[in-house]
Amino acid sequence: MGGWSRRNWLASLALAAAGQGAIANAWQVRPKKRELGREKAPGQGKLALEDYEPKSMLHVPETKVPRARFPAIDFHTHLSWSARRGRVTEAHNNATPEEVLPVMDRKNLRMMVNLTGGYGNVLEQTINYWQKPHPDRFVVFTEPWFEKIIEPGYPQFQADQIARAQALGARGLKLLKTLGLYLRERVTTGSLVKIDDHRFDPMWEAAGAHQMPVAIHISDPEAFFLPTDRFNERYEELNAHPDWSFHGKDFPSNQELQEARNRVMARHPRTQFVVLHVGDSENLPYVSELLDRYPNMHTEIGARIGELGRQPRASRKFFDKYQDRILFGTDAVPRGNDTPQQIFGEQLYEIYYRFLETEDEYFDYAPAPKPPQGRWRIYGIGLPESILRKVYYDNAARLLGLQN
Ligand SMILES: [Zn+2]
Repeated sequence: MGGWSRRNWLASLALAAAGQGAIANAWQVRPKKRELGREKAPGQGKLALEDYEPKSMLHVPETKVPRARFPAIDFHTHLSWSARRGRVTEAHNNATPEEVLPVMDRKNLRMMVNLTGGYGNVLEQTINYWQKPHPDRFVVFTEPWFEKIIEPGYPQFQADQIARAQALGARGLKLLKTLGLYLRERVTTGSLVKIDDHRFDPMWEAAGAHQMPVAIHISDPEAFFLPTDRFNERYEELNAHPDWSFHGKDFPSNQELQEARNRVMARHPRTQFVVLHVGDSENLPYVSELLDRYPNMHTEIGARIGELGRQPRASRKFFDKYQDRILFGTDAVPRGNDTPQQIFGEQLYEIYYRFLETEDEYFDYAPAPKPPQGRWRIYGIGLPESILRKVYYDNAARLLGLQN
């Protein structure tokens, strides 16, 4: 939507403030029956949705959780980017280890997994920058070299890259939603390449053979696949990031993406998959069904406490049942200013810890004046210590092959 039409559209969403004056007036001059419900608030009482910042009036406990109860591994971070759009031949670091380490120490974060380590020279640079000097604090994953898909022999080349990445020190393989939603037959043109395309089979197998877990991001919130209209519960988020909408065009549906990923997990039972962002955080019954069906599936909670925390009873049961297969992660990006729910920093971790450790009610899921992913707040699930230990550390440590 363009600037003018967007403003116009927001104005039509304006919230009517029911002022005292209007009520008194209605009492004195009773409208005829057919006019009831047609009264409009006066113009000055209108407020654009984007300007609305209601403050909760609830008097409820606010627990500050400055440190995780147990040492934690953040399994989902982006300390660096590799090739995001087009070719990048140098690693782009979002911060320095010297900036990040003191925050980690204060938050009781023992380790961060930098998923977007890239491939080729970029991977080597990224490992040398983060992991080599601090092997007990940072580990780096590699990513597929998708640009090579047009070359003959790609399937074997990609499998060989996994072995090479491991030799360099990489500890796992990361798939952005590039696969399924962006990568096309001629990289940027042609039809979309399917997640379960057989050209990737040797890559999935190699990851399993080298005990490198696969961190995979497939699909997105369900609302991203629906029109960005007044019924969309993430209207403001999609309005701020129009490129996150996968409605229309030739995009597959959420269900098609999920099913393609499921076929990959079924086809490669020796490979361990960590399904990022809970997989389908609006549909925990579905994710539970998948965890029951695929023993090589694990799940991670990054950037989805907004979803988990608005269904605290279902979430608590989910954590109870799958306590050995849920990993702590935040999707943290240093200086990720356009996504408040992901800005690396003390506030971000305190919110996650509060969600996992307390039974506080109705608090913000992101350090932002307005909830950036949807107009709701969340509830803590107060996990017991035995589950916290697993979610914060043990489950990730096992997959990463760390010595406890
Ligand atoms: Zn991420």
